[in-house]
Amino acid sequence: MIAVKARCTCGPSGRFQSTTIQRRDPGPRDVLVDIAFAGICHSDIDHARSTRGKTMYPVVPGHEIAGIVSAIGTEVTRFVIGDRVGVGNMVDSCRVCASCRSGLEQYCAGRVLAYNAIGRDGEPTYGGYSEKIVVDEYFVIRIPDSIPLANAAPLFCAGITLYSPLRHWSAGPGSRVAIAGFGGLGHVGVQISKALGAHTTVLELTAAKREDALRLGADAYAVVGDPATFIALATSFDLVISTVPANVDLEAYLGLLAVDGTFVNLSIPQKPLSVAAASLLANRRSIAGTRSGGLAESQEMIDFCAAHGISAQVEVIDADYIDEAYERLLAGDVRYRFVIDAKTMAKG
Ligand code: ZN
Ligand code: ZN
Repeated sequence: MIAVKARCTCGPSGRFQSTTIQRRDPGPRDVLVDIAFAGICHSDIDHARSTRGKTMYPVVPGHEIAGIVSAIGTEVTRFVIGDRVGVGNMVDSCRVCASCRSGLEQYCAGRVLAYNAIGRDGEPTYGGYSEKIVVDEYFVIRIPDSIPLANAAPLFCAGITLYSPLRHWSAGPGSRVAIAGFGGLGHVGVQISKALGAHTTVLELTAAKREDALRLGADAYAVVGDPATFIALATSFDLVISTVPANVDLEAYLGLLAVDGTFVNLSIPQKPLSVAAASLLANRRSIAGTRSGGLAESQEMIDFCAAHGISAQVEVIDADYIDEAYERLLAGDVRYRFVIDAKTMAKG
């Protein structure tokens, strides 16, 4: 086993503390990754605080991981020591179901999440808030040289979570896309949507992020705190992707969809989504959800990001700052993703 410094919480109201976890010795197909940076995703907060009631403590969150390969198993073929790599929210899956065989590992009933899960070896999984991780090479993604590791880390959740629906619903030249919420997910999504060729609008509660949104490629920016916006933009989008981690006025958002338009919800708000059926009958609208993306698509995503100069805008923090970062993230006070410098895990 390999002893690794990490940060964990031991209960829903606990602060993060320094701990030592054990990683398995790399098996034949495993890659040992020296973590350089780990992004802080909103869902990390949900798990750390067990807001969905499903956390196994102690929990080491983190599913936006970027680092360097430092050892490989005897049968590893895709990586060598020194490669720049990333790991997202999955570290294993069954490999044989229809989803796995179609490159849709995110829909495998036997998928293993990077943390707060039980691996196929029966051991709990611990995420990226740590110095090292051991992962089967199939679940490791190569990071192109042009993207710094700190800016690459968030792409493994925020990036793929937006890339996958944008591709699935064919965002591209001639299509009109709105991205609701310009935060960790949204600010990457806007860049991807624009690079795919779609006319891209940001929907935000206030005007505060307008300049950043336009700088990162948005064609338009609308303030949804003003009800007049929903009238002005009625039936004007083919695709609305909501990154907002709370219940939104679904009726209002559905009203933005043109004929055959789709509203894609990416978050898990506290309350069920509710909608009047008539809103769907009008314009033959759809409501959908998606969950991250598969491994091949994740590689495609980061290669696409490199080719188009896309990455996450980050604020690098020390491991001692995670609790404060959570509070600031909940207050919307980050532009646009916190990433933990893994070198600081050993402090404290
Ligand atoms: Zn995430
Ligand atoms: Zn499967």
